[in-house]
Amino acid sequence: MVSVIIPAYNEQENIENTAKVIGDILRENGNEYELLFVDDGSKDRTWEIIESLAAKDNSVRGIKFSRNFGKEGAIFAGLRSCDGDCAVVIDCDLQHPPELIPQMIKMHEQGVEVVEAVKSSRGKESLFYKMFAKSFYRIMNRSSNVDLDRASDFKLMDRKVIDALNDLPERITFFRALSSWVGFKCEKIEFEVAPRNAGSSKWNFRKLVKFALNNITSFTNFPMQIITWLGVLFLIFAAVIGIQSLVRFFSGTAQEGFTTVYILILLSASVIMIGLGVIGYYMSKIYEEIKFRPRYIISVDTKDRKRKETDHENGTNG
Ligand code: UDP
Ligand code: MG
Repeated sequence: MVSVIIPAYNEQENIENTAKVIGDILRENGNEYELLFVDDGSKDRTWEIIESLAAKDNSVRGIKFSRNFGKEGAIFAGLRSCDGDCAVVIDCDLQHPPELIPQMIKMHEQGVEVVEAVKSSRGKESLFYKMFAKSFYRIMNRSSNVDLDRASDFKLMDRKVIDALNDLPERITFFRALSSWVGFKCEKIEFEVAPRNAGSSKWNFRKLVKFALNNITSFTNFPMQIITWLGVLFLIFAAVIGIQSLVRFFSGTAQEGFTTVYILILLSASVIMIGLGVIGYYMSKIYEEIKFRPRYIISVDTKDRKRKETDHENGTNG
């Protein structure tokens, strides 16, 4: 069976259509499947729609978070609760073409354990978003050896990979990178990013910056290394200035040079502050991890509810 994991946050316009499109494709392809919608604490009618679909259609299942925990949490909740031999993660807005799923499944049958769909272009994004994404991925690329520029969350994973991901102890995660970090036999297929089916993008600038900082700090120590190198550079600089001022002192011309002092104080103070900031950021990561909080909280799972209903029926009948 294939589990299709679909994170959804305020997607009331999309749920029904997405379920129908993906369901049709998989039925036509002759696959056994479950559609696992993970409602990431939506504020609109998303959950009601998922629930009514699940009541009508046995292959649809829904998990509802108690509040918005972010797409990463939704993906990992899906991975943890899916029952398939393999799982496909796909966006709810059909920006990832579901027509590719049969091809991904075929590759899985041929022994590929991770099928990654990569963007052949980045689709329609604002100039600002593009620049932001570019520089983020450049930093990630240089420092963590994982090529992410064209990567997306649209992937198929074998049960082995799902179990490996579920076994990771960390709670601040970056699915896109982790799924290649765990290794396994991996192949890529390309897709063209489609425009959003309905509704608007669920990201805003704050969320994006947070996402980028989170992922950079949980995947690399690069920013900390920059600071170290800056420190070395400043040490050399300070040595040169120090010798110069000593020479001046002994030759009796030590009056001037206040400018150098200002500059040095300002520069070193700024380096120290940057350094403290970076260390603080990594410290906060340690703090987050050490709290051992769950990365999401599930408030309703339609599967449990169904199980209860059947238990109840069995109870009354027997
Ligand atoms: N999403 C989510 N939680 C969030 C934000 C987004 O589960 O906090 C889901 C959203 O419902 C969609 C997918 O993640 O299925 C991608 O979101 P979106 O289309 O807004 O991102 P974009 O395609 O603009 O990168
Ligand atoms: Mg989208």
